[in-house]
Amino acid sequence: MQQAGVGGLVVPVEKGGLGHGLLALAQACETLGKECASTAICFGMHCVASAVIAAKSTPEQDERYLRPIGAGEHFTTLALSEAGSGSQFYFPQARLQERDDRTYAVTGEKTFVTNGGHADSYVISTGVPGAARGEFSCVTVDADAANLRWGAAWRGFGMRGNASRSLELRETEIPRANLLGSHGDELWYVFNVIAPYFLAAMAGTYLGVADAAFSEARLHLRRRTYAATGRSLAGEAVVQHRLGRLWARLESARRLTYYAAMQGDSGGADALPAILSSKAEVAEAAVDVVNEAMTLSGGIAYAENAKLQRHLRDARAAHVMAPPTDILRTWTGRVLLDLPLLSD
Ligand SMILES: Cc1cc2nc3c(=O)[nH]c(=O)nc-3n(C[C@H](O)[C@H](O)[C@H](O)COP(=O)(O)OP(=O)(O)OC[C@H]3O[C@@H](n4cnc5c(N)ncnc54)[C@H](O)[C@@H]3O)c2cc1C
Repeated sequence: MQQAGVGGLVVPVEKGGLGHGLLALAQACETLGKECASTAICFGMHCVASAVIAAKSTPEQDERYLRPIGAGEHFTTLALSEAGSGSQFYFPQARLQERDDRTYAVTGEKTFVTNGGHADSYVISTGVPGAARGEFSCVTVDADAANLRWGAAWRGFGMRGNASRSLELRETEIPRANLLGSHGDELWYVFNVIAPYFLAAMAGTYLGVADAAFSEARLHLRRRTYAATGRSLAGEAVVQHRLGRLWARLESARRLTYYAAMQGDSGGADALPAILSSKAEVAEAAVDVVNEAMTLSGGIAYAENAKLQRHLRDARAAHVMAPPTDILRTWTGRVLLDLPLLSD
């Protein structure tokens, strides 16, 4: 993707990027996800982290990160999750301490860092000691910083090319210039940048997975004929009906994702509930469509190296990757009831 000139997909034009937003990110991830969900998420997390850096970047951050990203020379990624915070990724336990007037020290352990060990920089969420729950800052940590210890290689049920490793930081020194925005910007980052870009990348990725599975099943139904009668499987009314239902499931999720991304890009009134719901709808549609596609494609799809079994394993990650489906549904309801998203 960097060689193709799209590394700076969501970086503003004046900072060296292509200036696209949520719709382009969702569609790029969808395109990649049709072939490989891991590749799509690796690129997606690079874009989410790029957007976080770009949101309130300083001139120094433009030169150190955003222009190289636009030039395809810098790969970044997002490290929010921790074992302690799990789905509540907005309550990090990692700590940022003032070392001297030029440096901070970061201590904590991040889990499931996509692109772990491969990126040039990591966008990390961290709280300051004594801060209230939910008050955190985002900082960049360069790959060559001292005291970074990577966990074991990632061996997932699916998403196996994702390199989602854990990262331990032990008083890792970073320049103060690596602070993104100001202390106190945390919820602004979570709901204006991290969540919309993260959700668009994931919705796009798993739409691609569902689309690929649907195409596989359709191809199988068209090609499969039976020796005794010479009839095609496509002639069976039950499979016609099942394929029709899957098409509608996939297209509804796709249309909601595109609508949500366009609402987000234009600041539309429906943006938040649409963005939250789109990833939940895609997660449910992806698992349903891939699962059914496997049934329709018969024994050949169940073989060890068949594409559909990889799609099925990959699709399951859509529910787990934060925010998980149940939380997204709850948040959507809270938005519609004018209630705060986060509550005890
Ligand atoms: C392939 C993959 C890639 C990932 N990449 C990244 C990455 O690049 N960066 C990053 O920061 N993180 C990443 N993650 C981490 C991912 O976002 C975590 O899996 C997530 O934070 C969930 O945390 P947990 O596993 O501790 O779930 P838990 O917090 O233990 O939750 C388990 C389940 O409980 C349910 N649940 C939890 N809370 C609630 C609630 N309030 N209401 C209703 N149900 C609830 C949900 O179904 C949830 O799936 C990745 C994960 C995977 C699998």
